[in-house]
Amino acid sequence: MDFITLTIDGKKVTVPKGLNLVEAAKRAGIEIPTFCYDKDLPVVSSCRICVVEIEGFNKPVTACSTPAQEGMVVYTESEQVVNIRKTILRLMLDNHPSDCLTCSKNGSCKLQDYAYRYDVQFRIHDGARRGSEIAGFTDTSSPYILRDESKCILCGKCVRTCAVVPDRNILNFGGRGFDTKVVADSDTSLEASNCVSCNRCVVACPVGALVDRRTYRAGRVWELETKQVKCKSCDYGCNMEVQKKDGKVVAVNALHPENGRPLCLKGRLLTELEYVEEPAKPFKKVYGENKNEFIESSWGEVLELDGVLDKLIKLDE
Ligand code: SF4
Ligand code: SF4
Ligand code: SF4
Repeated sequence: MDFITLTIDGKKVTVPKGLNLVEAAKRAGIEIPTFCYDKDLPVVSSCRICVVEIEGFNKPVTACSTPAQEGMVVYTESEQVVNIRKTILRLMLDNHPSDCLTCSKNGSCKLQDYAYRYDVQFRIHDGARRGSEIAGFTDTSSPYILRDESKCILCGKCVRTCAVVPDRNILNFGGRGFDTKVVADSDTSLEASNCVSCNRCVVACPVGALVDRRTYRAGRVWELETKQVKCKSCDYGCNMEVQKKDGKVVAVNALHPENGRPLCLKGRLLTELEYVEEPAKPFKKVYGENKNEFIESSWGEVLELDGVLDKLIKLDE
């Protein structure tokens, strides 16, 4: 493997050739903020929060789309960089409900973290807001996912995450300019869409715009004890997080899938049934010619176990 050496914030760093500056800085223990970047997704550089200054470059560049090169001298927290980040955050927060107190993402939200890191307050400019003015779920049609458009920062991670799995591609951008928003299929509800409730997009969302409905209100981040477990539904063995509050397992959360792994509802529900002491009722999606809908179901049906027991009994006879 070829290596290169560059300087980031005064630190000499030797990293494998081919990394972008976000990944190179990570190897040096420096966290460049990102919203839209994910190492496993196509790079779009849309949020611009990862801007850095590089000696010899005439303007700041996005670290996610800039390859680290031999001899580069990079500044990730210069005055100019910090001012750009503050402006980006101000614009986002001008368009955002001040809802951290009750938001289920409170304590694990990138927007909140960076607002704190760069000392940027909620809404200092007047003017129109995109989407819903008030925080609140704008799509409650799915028993598995809640959407709050007012909190979406249009990073597009959910769109790219859904599209990574062949045949899904449920989410996309709809509208134009100021009215741009994320839509399911041709701007329908999650229930009516062909969404399979894998929750891959929920895992990817850096803010509280997409929420796992079955973990909603289970407890706040700092109240939960978590343990990582492997899903036993298939050979992929996706990573899940079992959440415990006051000594009782209250919810199961899917974790970020590895590249190429799909995540699925069945696996999440099986893990839930295995660990959660009082699991909520499961729902099954019925795909109709004119309309899709969720119907309350049984654990045997959603886990495709109905009939298995009968067959085992017959084999025993
Ligand atoms: S999404 Fe983040 S910043 Fe927005 S209200 Fe929720 S916790 Fe606060
Ligand atoms: S839950 Fe899965 S299928 Fe549905 S929109 Fe999200 S990523 Fe796509
Ligand atoms: S819903 Fe979340 S992941 Fe999708 S664009 Fe909005 S903020 Fe980004």
